[in-house]
Amino acid sequence: MQLLCFRAPYPLFFHHTRAFSSMAPTTTSSSAAAAAVSRAVTTKASLRGVVFDMDGTLTVPVIDFPAMYRAVLGEEAYVKIKSENPSGIDILHHIETWSPDKQKRAYEIIADFEKQGSDRLQIMPGASELCEFLESRNIRRGLITRNVKEAVDLFHLKFGKVFSPALSREFRPYKPHPAPLLHICSNWDLQPNEVMMIGDSLKDDVACGKRAGAFACLLDETGRYDAPEYEDVKFKPDYKVSSLLEVRSLLEKNFELTS
Ligand SMILES: [Mg+2]
Repeated sequence: MQLLCFRAPYPLFFHHTRAFSSMAPTTTSSSAAAAAVSRAVTTKASLRGVVFDMDGTLTVPVIDFPAMYRAVLGEEAYVKIKSENPSGIDILHHIETWSPDKQKRAYEIIADFEKQGSDRLQIMPGASELCEFLESRNIRRGLITRNVKEAVDLFHLKFGKVFSPALSREFRPYKPHPAPLLHICSNWDLQPNEVMMIGDSLKDDVACGKRAGAFACLLDETGRYDAPEYEDVKFKPDYKVSSLLEVRSLLEKNFELTS
């Protein structure tokens, strides 16, 4: 008799073994075991679309966000807001209530930092390979960013592959609101649970994905989200990778990939 025992390679909230998560290791015969395996295989979720974040996910992170926040908010306010928001500062949200003049100046500073980022734009290792894999399976490919449309246009030009729809911050409300992801699902005529959001931000990408009812995959290159301060966040990713190179096997293992 062979008992089936599946063990998750990550902490519980990272369901690398989602397709098997409902199985209890209580099987008592080999035929039952075979049936259970068959059931597990056939209950893999269908995945028909992947939506990517841009900065820090499809492109190598080059924007110095802490420096940008300091420049916009001033040192004192930055320190205060940072201590009140351990999972990250939502700079666009903070400046939304400012006076028009102050807001204009803030957007100029942000645009300047984003321009510096665009000038040094590099495609993330594994991004091309992953996109080619998705193409080979006819999986749709979209993009949601809090950056501006010009940056998305530049990215498309440099990358040579098109993401459609590609929503920039001109689309309101932006991430972490689920609206942009729901808009893409509707455009694709897919349910959110047939779509995965992949991004490097817990507070923006994972929150947007989970709020919309999609799968969420966190790209954490440095392991920074392993820190205790992130243990109690409201929206947790279904999967976590340290490189886009890991995503293909994750998708093949856990999903029925259908167009
Ligand atoms: Mg990002």
